[in-house]
Amino acid sequence: FLAGKTAIVTGSTSGIGLGIATAFARAGADIVLNGMGDPKDIADERDNLARNHNVDVIYSNADISKPDQIAQMITLAEEEFGGVDILVNNAGIQHVAPVEEFPVEKWDAIIAINLSGAFHTSRLVVPGMKKKGWGRIINIASAHALVASPYKSAYVAAKHGIAGFTKTIALELAEHNITANAICPGYVMTPLVKKQIPDTAKARGISEEAVVRDVLLAAQSTKRFVEVDELAALAVFLCSDGARSITGAIMPVDGGWTAH
Ligand code: NAD
Repeated sequence: FLAGKTAIVTGSTSGIGLGIATAFARAGADIVLNGMGDPKDIADERDNLARNHNVDVIYSNADISKPDQIAQMITLAEEEFGGVDILVNNAGIQHVAPVEEFPVEKWDAIIAINLSGAFHTSRLVVPGMKKKGWGRIINIASAHALVASPYKSAYVAAKHGIAGFTKTIALELAEHNITANAICPGYVMTPLVKKQIPDTAKARGISEEAVVRDVLLAAQSTKRFVEVDELAALAVFLCSDGARSITGAIMPVDGGWTAH
């Protein structure tokens, strides 16, 4: 049902973003992949998506912390596909440290990528969406858009910020048939989470097994990690006609974590 539509998914060379891009391609959308990684792996991902789902896929290496590179990515999408119908702001990084030791450059990078990047992509795609009279903006926030955890000050600040940004643009765009929503995953076992297990163990002075059991899954009542395909299914639904009245929603997919 997304044939003829174009979706940009930032940070789609790995993890949740790649899962969402794949689900959109399966539904028929042309895709702009974006993110870091080995050029050979990215070329393979791009070829697989295009071949398996018979859609057009282009890649932009835009660094989402750089507004000028974001502008180039949006221009590329408009030139190749004639516009952007679906925007998923998914690129994100994490750093775990006590606030008094938090590296200033990590704070700045997390705010730039996890929060400001979504402002820049959104402000640049909205004029085209308004012209078409249709659009979907989906921000991949986090359970950390709703609750905090210690040692993640920059991430929690950025994710709470993205929730506020989502609600604000939802109000501004509602009459244009453009929805804006935030999906708030609990823990998903992607490279982003794998990388923070040793740091969390160090910050809390506990073993890596204890981090998984007593920190990551402590509040996730299902006691299992959320799977990428669950998030992709919700993203696809949000693009459907049945979801046209869902806007400004901050939607937890977190195994009950934020119900506590
Ligand atoms: P991941 O590390 O697997 O993927 C992150 C993606 O972002 C990669 O494609 C990476 O190349 C890209 N990226 C990083 N910095 C970038 C930059 N400067 N410019 C462009 N791309 C960049 O992580 P993931 O777990 O799939 O995370 C995706 C999103 O989901 C993030 O916003 C994250 O905060 C959010 N999230 C993840 C979890 C989880 O448990 N994994 C939970 C809640 C929210």
